[in-house]
Amino acid sequence: MHEAVPIHIFQAIEPTAGALKLLDQQLARFFWGSTNERKRTHWISWEQICLPTNEGVLVLSDQAGLPQHIIDRICTFPILPGESDVPRWTLSRRGEFTLASTWNTIRSSIPIVQGLEDLWLAGVTATIAMFTWRLLSNRIPVDSKLQWRKIELASKCQCCPRRPDTESLQHLFIQGDGAIRVWREFDGWFEGNSHPIGLNDTIPSRIEVWATRLQQPGRKHLSIALPYLIFWFLWAERNRSRNHGTQFKASNVIWQVITFVRNNMINGKLRPKHWRGVRLGLIIPNEAEAQRPMRLTMMNKWEPPDQPWLKHNTDGSFFEETGKAGGGVLIRDYTGRVLKAFALPLDAHSPLEAELLAMHHGLVMAAELAMPIWLETDAEQAVALVRGNHWGPAHIRQAMAFLALQKRRLTLRISFIHREGNKAADLLAKTGAEMSHSRIFVEQDLPRELSDIIRQEQMGIPNARAQTEERN
Ligand SMILES: [Zn+2]
Repeated sequence: MHEAVPIHIFQAIEPTAGALKLLDQQLARFFWGSTNERKRTHWISWEQICLPTNEGVLVLSDQAGLPQHIIDRICTFPILPGESDVPRWTLSRRGEFTLASTWNTIRSSIPIVQGLEDLWLAGVTATIAMFTWRLLSNRIPVDSKLQWRKIELASKCQCCPRRPDTESLQHLFIQGDGAIRVWREFDGWFEGNSHPIGLNDTIPSRIEVWATRLQQPGRKHLSIALPYLIFWFLWAERNRSRNHGTQFKASNVIWQVITFVRNNMINGKLRPKHWRGVRLGLIIPNEAEAQRPMRLTMMNKWEPPDQPWLKHNTDGSFFEETGKAGGGVLIRDYTGRVLKAFALPLDAHSPLEAELLAMHHGLVMAAELAMPIWLETDAEQAVALVRGNHWGPAHIRQAMAFLALQKRRLTLRISFIHREGNKAADLLAKTGAEMSHSRIFVEQDLPRELSDIIRQEQMGIPNARAQTEERN
């Protein structure tokens, strides 16, 4: 909510200490809140982030006071009596102030830490860039780091099943069994005469050495992005293994990196020139060769809503043979965090009816939350019906009547997304069809498969849509 505080107000009135603290918290949540750590330790003090560039990290002016020419401009704006103050922001497309747009702007003026210059050229997502920044600033909470902070724990790394070692950054990302296997795999993507990677490389020197594989300095190229992807997915696998008590698998990391690369080929962010000279260890998807337009994949990428909207992804499943039907509803906020997930059996007679009933049940739940709703589903016909003035086939009349009532009560927008972008709701709907009662999941008890999909979507990884697939 503080996002809407117009900064220029602070020029005219002295902000209270409390207001400044709220702003601080909001910004801190934005920077550190995107990880899955329960306790959000702020690994870098906020004051340090606010240092001027040449002393270190991020540039974010901490001082009150605006330059005179800005004040002059503000004074030229007419005041509309009786109208409320509306903050406008030129950095976002729709003119709303968002932390994300601010971050995207300031982050270009960052770093001094070795290796970071390449980071912004490498074409990785903001989440991965942020993670790497923490990694290179030595702020990733591996065990040795926690011990240093005098948090007592017996460390056992996840990555070496036979001889577990103390988990340090160097171990997890360079020297451990898991890391060695992953690096070796991607080392194989480059021809023989590239600079060899060494066991005693530090994390920054690994990045440096890696950048010499192909002489493409300062260009966006897959070879530059690869180390960042490897670090990120090593970390993700370590967390997965630790949180779920499963075995750390180097093959998972390799698979994740390859999937990321492949998805970016399909959505056109990686083009043939970006992997020129690389002996790819994956089959180039057809879509990448044809350089398909972006539009297709944009629809498959799950977009978080703007605050204070809540996004509902719903899906209905209907099984002809058994007559069973189920609905799935997933409610997420602007950070992509799950507020509620809902699976329920439905009494439906067609796929369309199942879709509409799933929407209805989702909206019933939304009424409790009292927020504007962005409803998204992969049922094109259902979207058209809810948007329009038609009532559709007779057997859905009850579902349509429910929805008509809810449309009147709620602030609602509705959009269509391809099935690949609605995987989480789909999974819930299929689960629902097999259940005798409805079940609500909270974030902590989501099934593994589901939380994996959600995390991917939260990270902004688009879901690839196969070209040959039929529209449903
Ligand atoms: Zn290990």
